[in-house]
Parts: sequence; C-alpha cells; structure tokens
Amino acid sequence: MNQPRFCPSCATPLAHIEALEDGGPKSRLRCPSCDWTHWNNPTPVLAAIVEYGGQVLLARNAAWPAKMFALITGFMEAGETPQEGISREVKEETSLDVSEVNLVGVYDFQRMNQVIIAYHVVAHGEVSLSPELVDYRLYDLPDLKCWPAGTGYALADWLRTRGHEPIFFTAAENEERRRGLAS
Ligand SMILES: [Zn+2]
Repeated sequence: MNQPRFCPSCATPLAHIEALEDGGPKSRLRCPSCDWTHWNNPTPVLAAIVEYGGQVLLARNAAWPAKMFALITGFMEAGETPQEGISREVKEETSLDVSEVNLVGVYDFQRMNQVIIAYHVVAHGEVSLSPELVDYRLYDLPDLKCWPAGTGYALADWLRTRGHEPIFFTAAENEERRRGLAS
C-alpha cells in the first residue's frame, strides 16, 4: 500500500515516530510538527452477491485477467448507509435495481488493508454494464466456485445458507484464474 509522505494538515514530511497510545508505545508515521498521525485504518468496501432471475451475476472488471469474475464491489460514499451504498453500486455498475438487501457478513482483506461488508441483493431490470466492467456471467448456484479471499468467503457463506456446500477453486485453479488462463 502507498504510504503518505507529507502531513495532509501542514505538509511537513512524515516520520516514523514512537508515541504512547492506549495500547502502549507505538511507532507510526506521524507529523513531527503538528502531531498528525497516519493511523492506516482499513477502508470499508461494499460487496454484493447479485441474485438475478434465480441466478448469481458475477462481473469482470476491465482491469482484471480475462477469466476472472467476481462480486460487484465499491467504496462507500459520505452521507449514505452501507445498504444505500451497495444498492447504488449495483445500479451504477449493472443498471439493475435492487429490491432486497441482506447482510451476509464482514470479511477482512488485509492485502489491500480493506474490510469487506458483503450483502446478498435481489436485482431486477435489464443488465447494462458500466465502462468499468467488461463482461458478466450468470451462474446457477451449484455451478458457482469460490475463491480464497474476502469476497469468495462471503459467497461461500451465502451458498451454505441456500443449502449448497461451497466448492472452492483449487490452489492451481486459482492461480490460473488470476493469470486469466482458467476455462
Ligand atoms: Zn503536520
């Protein structure tokens, strides 16, 4: 993750400085001039398992490998609830309207310093992808395969609630998937 180099408050170069916190002495990036602290807290990310016509819609981001399909995700915006945020993201990215929003769970994604808030949504309308997404696929529930990362664990937990024991990509399949080679 990119670390800030300058204080956003007074523009002084940041330094690793030890200070006494509630949990004891701790070294963090801090401003030597005004004491601003880079807490580096994880960012909340919203994710949706989109149920559409009894199937699950997975989409491929333009920046991803050719065969990688996953949940709809996005950042929360100021002034909205998580439920409003995920409904907005699904609408922006697929044009679909959401009639039901159910929390699946909360998952860590430490590699990206994010925490994922995952919902199952029931969506209606005609699919029309935003430029951010290049393709989508509809899956029957038993055909879904989960991936070993935050949103994949969310999908697995949701499949269990529907009576399907989740099947995960094997390590080799997952590597191929990430490289865009999986069929
Ligand atoms: Zn400062």
